[in-house]
Amino acid sequence: MLPVLLLGSLLTAHAASADSRLPQESRVPGGVALVPFQAAAAPRVSYQDARVLVVPNPAAGPDQWLAVVGIPLDADASASQQLDINGKALAFDIKDKTYKAQYLTVKNKRHVDPDPEDLKRWTRERAEMDAAFSYWSEPAAPVLHFALPADGRFSSPFGLKRYFNQQPRNPHSGLDIAAPEGAPIRAPAPGVVRATGNYFFNGNTIIVDHGFGLSSLYCHLSRIDVAPGQSMAAGEQLGLVGKTGRVTGAHLHWSLSLNNARVDPLLFVNEQPFIDKK
Ligand SMILES: [Zn+2]
Repeated sequence: MLPVLLLGSLLTAHAASADSRLPQESRVPGGVALVPFQAAAAPRVSYQDARVLVVPNPAAGPDQWLAVVGIPLDADASASQQLDINGKALAFDIKDKTYKAQYLTVKNKRHVDPDPEDLKRWTRERAEMDAAFSYWSEPAAPVLHFALPADGRFSSPFGLKRYFNQQPRNPHSGLDIAAPEGAPIRAPAPGVVRATGNYFFNGNTIIVDHGFGLSSLYCHLSRIDVAPGQSMAAGEQLGLVGKTGRVTGAHLHWSLSLNNARVDPLLFVNEQPFIDKK
């Protein structure tokens, strides 16, 4: 288990330290933009109507901040992206990224062509998950560095264009970690369980809120060991790997959501120097 480090500790002493890690910047759909700006105390920032995580950027000078912006996979890279900072617009550009295609065959045909009852269920579940992803909480400090929640090889990377039984479906909005059924899944950072459920596509699912619009999603579990409202320390067990929902075998699907945009979780796992160490 990698140590989980809080950004707060580096903000008082931002000289290069092991604590000083932000996510790796990747200004593409499914990536994260670190957008510097100047503003008076406590700026309020939003992007595509979602509130954005902001951290102080003392290395750049007084009243300097950094917006940590999740860019959704369906963002239009040909258009300039707009942040709203205390009511003023700030634009930044992103580059397009071509993700590979993946063709999967699932046995349960309703997981490819859901019947009307399935769709009704899925619509309800999506609203529940969207509410969890949109939840804004303010713990003492943001957590911007994650361990891996399970041991295993990465069986499907984030962002793949997906075809189920030859039919195009939504892109892969997380990272798949292949692990045997019953393997433990551990909280990769501190947080509060915001939602649990048995969902049509995602199977047994947990959403953990890490604060400031950053949350993590765990799908296809064989067992859920936590309940909504429960506080988790890094390393505590969330549940067990399984193969519930739309799967081809046992694995953990892990997503990170930042300002309600699903982004590549590995941007938060790789060790990166703090921004003043470019
Ligand atoms: Zn997956």
